Amino acid sequence: MSDTGDMIGFIGLGNMGGPMASRLVEAGHKLLVFDTVPERVSQLVERGAEAAKSVADVAERAETVLLSLPRPETVVAVATGHGGLVDGSAIKVCVDLSTTGSRTARQVAEALNAKSCAMLDSPVSGGTAGARAGTLAVMVSGPTDAFDALKPVLDVIGNVFYVGEKQGLGQTMKLANNVLSAAAMAMTSEAMVLGAKAGLQPEVMLDVINAGSGQNTATSDKFPNRILPRKFDSGFSAGLMHKDVALFLEEAEAFEVPTWIGHAVRHIWQFTVAQEGADADFTTIVKNSERWAGVEIRGKDAPAND
Ligand code: NAD
Repeated sequence: MSDTGDMIGFIGLGNMGGPMASRLVEAGHKLLVFDTVPERVSQLVERGAEAAKSVADVAERAETVLLSLPRPETVVAVATGHGGLVDGSAIKVCVDLSTTGSRTARQVAEALNAKSCAMLDSPVSGGTAGARAGTLAVMVSGPTDAFDALKPVLDVIGNVFYVGEKQGLGQTMKLANNVLSAAAMAMTSEAMVLGAKAGLQPEVMLDVINAGSGQNTATSDKFPNRILPRKFDSGFSAGLMHKDVALFLEEAEAFEVPTWIGHAVRHIWQFTVAQEGADADFTTIVKNSERWAGVEIRGKDAPAND
């Protein structure tokens, strides 16, 4: 294999990209990494990756480039903007692990395809814990030949699901998944706060719900591990969850699918961002209901104050 063929570029080394890139280095891949925050690059270099100077540098030196970037507009700028992936001479395939929605996936694919670069949209689910453990659900769509070639790389970061050839299907899949997670967090917050105000212990409530029909990812993970201990440290921001729900609604509108509940879910995430800030952990959504009701979901072993 050529030097550029061996090399995998990785752009965006945040809460998800950092651990995914680390796993790839640990699995023996040669990684060329870039992030606008230099400390995030240094952390990967310490683990054995090579630092790139810019996005353009990555696309000049790696045939395969993976992206894990926050928002659709970031992905569009990095892939198609001035000095972006489209200007690189080495890049042959781009794998976008970010959540951007199907419209952006198609727009980016069109721009890259015009430069003979294939595109796989490949959003992931499973949080930072899944990224560290390599157990993410990886939802890929795009050309089958590019997918077959990249499958061994994607296997390092999680369980790979090829959902179809049509560009953007992976994104639609991811948004359907995340709106359920967003709704579960929002509704579980209201149910838990009601129980606490009525006099139920939060630990008892979770034991019962997790043995019953109300069980979901908020009751099995976020409440026991992040909220009862008052850590609010899931590693997924309220701003990014609001983005995902907004993208789901955009998708629903494009396909003319009604979504009454989706709009209510969006409002509560929008409110959470207004109250806590876009960078706050998404588990802080519970604080809305807590403030209104005047009670807290505080575990027995949690500190007295946040
Ligand atoms: P993050 O904000 O922690 O990381 C994004 C990284 O991109 C940061 O390190 C930032 O410095 C870097 N970046 C921003 N603009 C850049 C640019 N122009 N060039 C290079 N680097 C740039 O976000 P995250 O939580 O890691 O999420 C990344 C993507 O994965 C998002 O699309 C998110 O919706 C999705 N996602 C996140 C989670 C989660 O639990 N955090 C789970 C599944 C999917």
